[in-house]
Amino acid sequence: MPKAALWAAVAALALAVLWAWRAYDLGAWLTLDQLKASRDALQAHVQAQPLLTAAVFFGVYVAAAALSIPGAVILTLAAGAMFGLGWGLLLVSFASSLGALLAFLAARYLLRETIQARFGKALAPINEGVAKDGTFYLLTLRLVPLFPFWLINLLMGLTPMRAGRFYGVSQLGMLAGTAVYVNAGTQLAAVQSPGDILSPALLGSFVLLGLFPLIAKAVVGWLQRRKVYAKWPRPRRFDRNLVVIGAGAGGLVSAYIAAAVKAKVTLVEGHRMGGDCLNYGCVPSKALIRSAKAARQLKKAHELGVSCAQGQVDFAAVMRRVHTVIRDIEPHDSVQRYTQLGVQVLQGQARITSPWTVEVRLADGATQTLNTRSIVIAAGASPFIPPIPGLKEAGCLTSDTVWGLTELPRRLVVLGGGPIGCELAQSFARLGSTVTQVEMLPRVMAREDTEVADLVATSLRADGVQLLTGHQALRVEVVGGQKRLVARAGDAGDAEVAIPFDELLCAVGRSPRVSGYGLEELGIPLTPRKTIQTNACLQTIFPNIYAVGDVAGPYQFTHTAAHQAWYAAVNALFGSFRRFKADYRVIPWATFTDPEVARVGLSETEAQEQGIAYELTRYGIDDLDRAIADGSAHGFVKVLTVPGKDRILGVTIVGEHAGDLLAEYVLAMKHGLGLNKILGTIHTYPTLAEANKYAAGEWKRAHAPQRLLRWVERFHAWQLA
Ligand SMILES: Cc1cc2nc3c(=O)[nH]c(=O)nc-3n(C[C@H](O)[C@H](O)[C@H](O)COP(=O)(O)OP(=O)(O)OC[C@H]3O[C@@H](n4cnc5c(N)ncnc54)[C@H](O)[C@@H]3O)c2cc1C
Repeated sequence: MPKAALWAAVAALALAVLWAWRAYDLGAWLTLDQLKASRDALQAHVQAQPLLTAAVFFGVYVAAAALSIPGAVILTLAAGAMFGLGWGLLLVSFASSLGALLAFLAARYLLRETIQARFGKALAPINEGVAKDGTFYLLTLRLVPLFPFWLINLLMGLTPMRAGRFYGVSQLGMLAGTAVYVNAGTQLAAVQSPGDILSPALLGSFVLLGLFPLIAKAVVGWLQRRKVYAKWPRPRRFDRNLVVIGAGAGGLVSAYIAAAVKAKVTLVEGHRMGGDCLNYGCVPSKALIRSAKAARQLKKAHELGVSCAQGQVDFAAVMRRVHTVIRDIEPHDSVQRYTQLGVQVLQGQARITSPWTVEVRLADGATQTLNTRSIVIAAGASPFIPPIPGLKEAGCLTSDTVWGLTELPRRLVVLGGGPIGCELAQSFARLGSTVTQVEMLPRVMAREDTEVADLVATSLRADGVQLLTGHQALRVEVVGGQKRLVARAGDAGDAEVAIPFDELLCAVGRSPRVSGYGLEELGIPLTPRKTIQTNACLQTIFPNIYAVGDVAGPYQFTHTAAHQAWYAAVNALFGSFRRFKADYRVIPWATFTDPEVARVGLSETEAQEQGIAYELTRYGIDDLDRAIADGSAHGFVKVLTVPGKDRILGVTIVGEHAGDLLAEYVLAMKHGLGLNKILGTIHTYPTLAEANKYAAGEWKRAHAPQRLLRWVERFHAWQLA
């Protein structure tokens, strides 16, 4: 039945009931006094026509429950008075469950879609909770007959709980309460008010009964924990509070926090302190981007009135600078610094040998066994090399090895159109390589909105990158001593194209490091995305072993690794008092192409996919004074807000320094500040940051109180008269 017809039917039924309620004063029938007065007559009906009376009673009960009409208590007492305990219980048990199911289904089909569309994001944790533990919660609510029956039916209809489960759990959960009320109905004369039925002692029993599912859940959890630890002997005492595996962003922050709160902590790093970010990731890539930008600026200097600006890229010097930058930042992550902070740093390969022991193969070949209360795994990720025939034999660069180049590749193929691929393709093109970027999907930066990807693509092309989107890499061949990548063009009738290259840089993603250090032996499970499976508190199936950063996902950023590290360290050290769930509500990120792309919260595409209602405000940076003066007047600020409100759902900025500009919106979202607050904040003139205020201004203009303004206009006109 179409939804409109269903709404009409429900509305008609509700009106009919309302009319009957008033016309026949039905409320008066659903009182204890009326029930007592009618008891003999009702019993006579049962005596005369038991089946018909039972059927009518059943129908009335189902209808009352389905329409959420108050009076379930009186009807249940009536069942006892009319049919006795056995039959009364049977009738009410099925009638109340069936009625509850109908109310549940009505809420689901009439309201759920609208409510989820409007409050989808806010309801996400509730939905997740219901999907995971809904049975326990519903059982608790049903066992304690104090929670309004009709409200539970309607609210549960808005959650993802399956109807069959709702029915079964409701019937089981309401049985005890129903029995008490039906039984009271059999002694109707003694009942003075419905409140008499639930004595404090009986209420206490119900509350205990209600707590039972939660207690049972805790016991099941405890038994599961015992089971996972069963085959591992627990040390009698521990030598340290925490061992952290990996000294990248996640590991360093975990160790830092542990040392700051005076815990005994050992940090083990098998390779280079600082991990990917310092040595192969954020730091070298941003240093390279800077040099590439300088080369581009020199080329475009005439646009700023500087003629004859000449620049020769000395690639070896560029790479020397990259390594100097790494060296300059290295002290922040060094063994010395962390040792001074109170962390024991071991340089060696760690292997978890039990939930409480980590074996470290030190650089000199010796082995040391560490015994610890808790472990944080922060082992990071490594570049994924796809199984493309011929690729291994021909050899390829990755984000791990590209920093070893000393000569600029003449012809470079970049495989992958994600953030790393785009940043590096643009940089190498600006430094003078002939770059071909190959992406299987129809656009680069697939996580971002199409218009964002289009702007980045335009800019890559403007820098000379030959962009082959919708191309699937098939194989690498060496023909006449020349390496070439053969790709299939999806939009050109599956034609094959051969792209000759001197170097191929593989940037198609990074795989979490999950093998070779004990996860397999301990049976620590992985997610389908091959990250270590953790709960919201970042615990693996062993509650004292945590995982953070790239190895745990769901994000692969330095700042998210550091953010998770705080939670993992605090939970590992203080979890016996309180554990915190990692908070992913406001996660920003940026891609440092030129123009930069920065985002926090929802993109437009995500909002549409998740069915979240939004209003879009856009401000074009081509209009911004400072951007015009700088010669960087391109890009936009795009803000998604709750319809009719200034609450921010997500922001995407494309433009010069977008990564920095985003900070204002990150703060606003984190602390619940709306666009009105941004608009009411003074922004220095002329800065790029003014783009944020102007975007808020666009929103305000669209929400100007038109009717009031018309009156104000009249007022001004009247003043002139
Ligand atoms: C080219 C590139 C550019 C990037 N740019 C950005 C950016 O601009 N912004 C951003 O936020 N992120 C960026 N990233 C991602 C960022 O580098 C990672 O998200 C971040 O480094 C993850 O930190 P982590 O602590 O999880 O892992 P890592 O930094 O990878 O650290 C893990 C460490 O664990 C060690 N280890 C692993 N196993 C063992 C073991 N058994 N025993 C001892 N040690 C072990 C490893 O040697 C490694 O040092 C970039 C990445 C790349 C590749």
